[in-house]
Amino acid sequence: MNANLNQIAEMDRNSVLHPFTQLKDFANGKLGDPTIVETGKGIRIQDAHGNQLIDGFAGLYCVNVGYGRTEVAEAISRQAYRLAYYHSYAAHTTDELAILSDRLVRMAPGKMSKVFYGMSGSDANETQAKLVWYYNNLRGKPNKKKIISRERGYHGCSVVSGSMTGMSFYHDHMDLPRAGILHTGAPHHYWGAEAGETELEFSIRRAGELETLILREDPETIGAFIAEPVLGTGGITPPPEGYWEEVQKVLRKYDILLIADEVITGFGRTGSIFGSQHYGIEPDLITVAKGLTSAYFPLSGAIVGEKVYKVMEEGADRVGAFSHGYTYSGHPIGAAAANAVLDIVEKEDLPGNARKVGAYFQAQLKEKFAQLPIVGEVRGVGLMGAIEFVADRENKTRFDPSLSVGARVSKAARSRGLIARAMPHGDILGFAPPLVTTKEEIDEIVAIAESAVRSVM
Ligand code: PLP
Repeated sequence: MNANLNQIAEMDRNSVLHPFTQLKDFANGKLGDPTIVETGKGIRIQDAHGNQLIDGFAGLYCVNVGYGRTEVAEAISRQAYRLAYYHSYAAHTTDELAILSDRLVRMAPGKMSKVFYGMSGSDANETQAKLVWYYNNLRGKPNKKKIISRERGYHGCSVVSGSMTGMSFYHDHMDLPRAGILHTGAPHHYWGAEAGETELEFSIRRAGELETLILREDPETIGAFIAEPVLGTGGITPPPEGYWEEVQKVLRKYDILLIADEVITGFGRTGSIFGSQHYGIEPDLITVAKGLTSAYFPLSGAIVGEKVYKVMEEGADRVGAFSHGYTYSGHPIGAAAANAVLDIVEKEDLPGNARKVGAYFQAQLKEKFAQLPIVGEVRGVGLMGAIEFVADRENKTRFDPSLSVGARVSKAARSRGLIARAMPHGDILGFAPPLVTTKEEIDEIVAIAESAVRSVM
């Protein structure tokens, strides 16, 4: 057994190019052996040595229904036996795909028309950019193409989605094209507000800055604004009061499409089925992935609103077929997985659980961490939360990055049996447990996190 595990570790080290990994440290063994994850049940995973870890981050905010759901595995298996694959080009479909699409269009906020499928959040956002350009070409506005995203927004790491991501370390040294993608300020009151500025005043200022950017560039050149309802990878930051209302006023004024990137917030994480519903957002286009299948199969969707779709359909006589699609668009196994996952989301009322258990979670985070001398802010909504560490609470001074405080806390949590993520932007410990997490499991998560935080104080 051990020899086998050693061989697996060696094969991995020799052959896998791991995402978001310091390659030299991994090659030299400084990061230790790869963790060989073998099984999962509920909110726990187990490695090949039998060590159990509570997954306080649901993989990458995605295993919402928890691990080991046999009903999803069976749906996948049934579909694989029946029909493992057929494409969805030129009006081919499967029952699972049609049922899923009808369901998504009905459950999504606003007037949605159609769903285009991909395999990841990144490619779905790539599709959204193409839809914005296509839509404006078809309605005779060929200059209205630029896309505005936000600093600290995360939208993926393919070419266009990576450019939309507002954290430079995700595109440094990769030469992503910057032309046509603009960034506006992050909606984070704690770091962005001026002295004495209320959340609402700050939101109004951010919306004003967005308008200034639009006017500087010329509104006739701005096609869309893309944003996560709750800033995710950029620090798990719920929007400040009034933010979405103010931003949407500006977008409507200049006829700019709104893409809600619901890759994390879709399917219950905030306590509402979509983050858009939670915050009164009326998107024209919605991106979903992760929770759509709870990561049991790679599947994403670009949900297209009526306003955009009508223009596409009307333009078809002039431009011919909609020439965009992947071999795996609408994969039947993915659709079967998504239908089984959405059955669980509905039957077990996971948005309701995220709301109820989430309220308890947020209260516990505040109670246990908000007053600690190294904690600047505790924040979150539903079952996503963050603790941000600072060197000086009074003056809001960050720790020297070389101290890696966030990473050290995350490591300490892990050694105590809890996965909580050191977020890539600042010293932030992030949580996004599966949406099936119980109150008792929250107690376990919070107790381990508290011990980990205290260990670095
Ligand atoms: N959009 C958001 C909001 C995300 O959080 C992510 C991934 O974390 C993506 C897009 C990209 O998704 P993927 O990693 O599946 O390409």
